Amino acid sequence: MVSNPRLNRLLQRKEIKELVDVPLPKGSRIYLVGGYIRDFLLRRKSHDIDLAIEGDFDQIFSRFKKRISGKVVNYATFQTGTIVTDRLRLDFARTRKESYPTPGALPKVVPADIYEDLRRRDFTINAMAVRLKPPPLTFIDPYNGYQDLKRGWIRILHEESFRDDPTRIFRAYRYARRFSFAIEPETKSLIKRDLHFITRLTPERIINELDLIAEEKEWYRIIRDLKNISIYRLIADRPLIRRGRGVTERKLFLHAHLKLNILENGPITVSQLKSAKEIKRVERIVAELKRIKKRSACYRTLSRLEPTTIEMIKELYPELKTKIRQFKRDVLLKPLITGSDLLNLGLKPSPLFRRILDRIRVLQVDRKIRSKKEAMQLIGQWISS
Ligand code: ATP
Ligand code: MG
Repeated sequence: MVSNPRLNRLLQRKEIKELVDVPLPKGSRIYLVGGYIRDFLLRRKSHDIDLAIEGDFDQIFSRFKKRISGKVVNYATFQTGTIVTDRLRLDFARTRKESYPTPGALPKVVPADIYEDLRRRDFTINAMAVRLKPPPLTFIDPYNGYQDLKRGWIRILHEESFRDDPTRIFRAYRYARRFSFAIEPETKSLIKRDLHFITRLTPERIINELDLIAEEKEWYRIIRDLKNISIYRLIADRPLIRRGRGVTERKLFLHAHLKLNILENGPITVSQLKSAKEIKRVERIVAELKRIKKRSACYRTLSRLEPTTIEMIKELYPELKTKIRQFKRDVLLKPLITGSDLLNLGLKPSPLFRRILDRIRVLQVDRKIRSKKEAMQLIGQWISS
């Protein structure tokens, strides 16, 4: 156990103060665990609080229920429960021990103490706890998660971790990109060793991981990382895309990319895609971009896309990087002329304006003209002819 001077600042947070103030039966122990502490130490905001309870779960949870107003879900048989308030999501769980009957299967769970509870976790930075009750606040960090946090490392707790739960491979890359951390070398080589256990996962669990990745800001980088470790060939024969679910643009691209990889790598059962049309669109645009030579034509094609889509294409198709870099430079070019220049020439506002401005822009992007003077001369010629 370590005391960490910053911990007391936790008590200055309203939500933590509220939790600490709930009166509990004697002997109960309550811990903050997982992401909330990690994010606190990283000075990042988080709206999910995970709490581990050592003691009579139902009794303790009902005390919290009484004091904290929100929507409650209680899974009594699993000894877990959730309270969703207007600002926060509080997840409660009995401290537990897990064992994995076979690789990739869901674990068997029995009650155990906080140390066992931390031992079943994915990475050292997620295996820290703070005892909220009884006081004083105590930092519990058996795997030196704090040190890894400062060093910027994603590190598993034991050698069999990925074998127990291969979804942790997805999680490792997700956290690495989110925090700009590195995957610790030993962990990385274990990912290589145990990658094949991915095939044991059900499609639902894989989809769940992909969905979580889709929520990330750097999702396309994560996808590229996964591509680089050749993960896709392992999930290629899975019906990964369910029909009829809400498909956001991000998910589409993710799945699109997945599909492209699957197509490259052989068998496919990913058929009847609801999203087939949009996937086709991305494929078409990428093919078009590869073909196009003229700078202004690339400019036009790329102008139609969302910035996130452009970033994704840049990450996934290195051969298009130069074109995208040029586009980004071209976007910043100050227009040589504007509508008011045309008015000054005595032209009346009309659809012709747009056409003239576009034509000038094309010539500018292709570096055929470089000054306002050249532009105005040209327009003069167009008008008089
Ligand atoms: P996020 O900000 O992504 O929600 P989090 O750390 O809160 O990060 P959750 O998925 O909400 O992550 O899970 C809460 C905690 O449960 C984690 O911090 C981790 O300790 C543990 N955990 C979650 N998934 C796994 C897993 N597959 N294997 C082991 N431990 C896990
Ligand atoms: Mg969480």
